[in-house]
Amino acid sequence: MRILISADMEGATGVTWPADVLPGTAQWERCRSMFTSDVNAAVLGFFDGGADEVLINEAHWTMRNLLLERLDERVQMLTGRHKALSMVEGVQHGGDRAVDGVAFVGYHAGAGMEGVLAHTYLANQITGVWLNGVRASEGLLNAHVVAEFGVPVVLVTGDDLACEDALGYAPGALKVAVKDHVSRYAAVCRTPARTAADIRAAAREAAPLAVRHEPVAGGPFTVEVEFDAEHLSAAVTVVPGVRRVAERKVAYTSGTMYEGIRTFKAVTTVASAAVEEQYG
Ligand SMILES: [Zn+2]
Repeated sequence: MRILISADMEGATGVTWPADVLPGTAQWERCRSMFTSDVNAAVLGFFDGGADEVLINEAHWTMRNLLLERLDERVQMLTGRHKALSMVEGVQHGGDRAVDGVAFVGYHAGAGMEGVLAHTYLANQITGVWLNGVRASEGLLNAHVVAEFGVPVVLVTGDDLACEDALGYAPGALKVAVKDHVSRYAAVCRTPARTAADIRAAAREAAPLAVRHEPVAGGPFTVEVEFDAEHLSAAVTVVPGVRRVAERKVAYTSGTMYEGIRTFKAVTTVASAAVEEQYG
């Protein structure tokens, strides 16, 4: 059994504030240790539950946050950026690299939703994303990508609202809330010792759910992206297939989520390049 862990940071233990997840800050240095603790707890739980291999794919910011030297020696970690499938890179392989189950560790609610550090890809320029009319978080988008490869989401960790969000896209997955939402920048947090025990137990229980199924062909997928400024929706129309549907909103349609998430990545990359420091 081969498990892929997609590890994001906003939903990690103790994290509630931008500086907690901003590479280079003192708070980030402190929080990456708690993030590593969450991820390692999932690794240990999956091995307890019978996994033969666990691959971690770093999925936050520049994708170099986890402390490799503190991870269980059986694990492998994909770190760094520029990957075909971004947050769920690795799920697309077949043969002896085929993944049987995916875990979303440290996930968070989507842009425009209630939740600690809620956003979708861009920290604040995107105010909402919809997939076929349903408001989408990163978890929901990535769940559709992995379903296309026949891989189930078996575990989700984050704040309580990230877990609630996961009820929609991965109803069968185990969920662990490491903190309870109070506001976008505040939460009632549990200690790393406590959340590590909870995550390890849940991952162990989730391991038997890692069974590949028939790939789900759910397309076509229409993705709508709403920005906080009109010039960003104008800028992203350089991406082929992306059309402006309102002053601050664009849409595109993809036959598969493999293409859908790659176009989404292109849209967010162009949008970030068009953001001006003071005026947005
Ligand atoms: Zn994220």
